[in-house]
Amino acid sequence: MRRFQTPDREPKRRVKKPKLIVISAPSGTGKTTLCARLLKDLSSMLTLSISSTTRPPRGKEQHGIEYFFLSTQDFEVAIQRGHFAEHARVHDNYYGTSRDAIESNWKQGKSVLLDIDVQGAASLKKAYPDETVRIFIAPPSLEALEQRLRKRGTDPEETIQKRLKNAEKEMSHMKRFDYVIVNDDLERAYRQLRDIVAQEI
Ligand code: 5GP
Repeated sequence: MRRFQTPDREPKRRVKKPKLIVISAPSGTGKTTLCARLLKDLSSMLTLSISSTTRPPRGKEQHGIEYFFLSTQDFEVAIQRGHFAEHARVHDNYYGTSRDAIESNWKQGKSVLLDIDVQGAASLKKAYPDETVRIFIAPPSLEALEQRLRKRGTDPEETIQKRLKNAEKEMSHMKRFDYVIVNDDLERAYRQLRDIVAQEI
């Protein structure tokens, strides 16, 4: 038997669910600077997801600030336990986003900013299709990227070569993104990013 339900007199107000703003970019494209600025400007609505990784800390990086630095064994146990909403192998190391990093922020009504690779972006789009907005930040050219990586001076030659190869691969996925920003001018790139994100959240 079907029950007849009287409609609510007042339509329920729909609460807009917070978003996942996923930023992917080859290393050295300026995404760290762009993301830091964005987080500062939109701090009341947007918060950063801190990823876990098995790569060793670089420079002054600290556990729980830039990343949660885990051993390969601990990372694999966390995968088995379903701790991650997505994880991927990037440059021979594991990287992953915990479910908690996303959902605890959503509970507080905040959108989440993720700086992850193209594989992670694709996984999150599958897991959270309605909430995920993918933005790709591209270098003006691969030559410009190589110059920036060398100037940064944090990586040995072998790592630079690996990052360049990876950049080429990542750029081949750029068409699947909702937005592509070419960072040939930091100020302009930032304005574009801020406008897109402000509109989406
Ligand atoms: P880096 O070692 O330079 O900090 O990061 C290397 C790459 O790993 C970057 O492309 C970065 O976006 C990606 N990455 C960082 N965290 C995550 C994550 O949680 N998941 C995935 N899939 N990639 C990540």
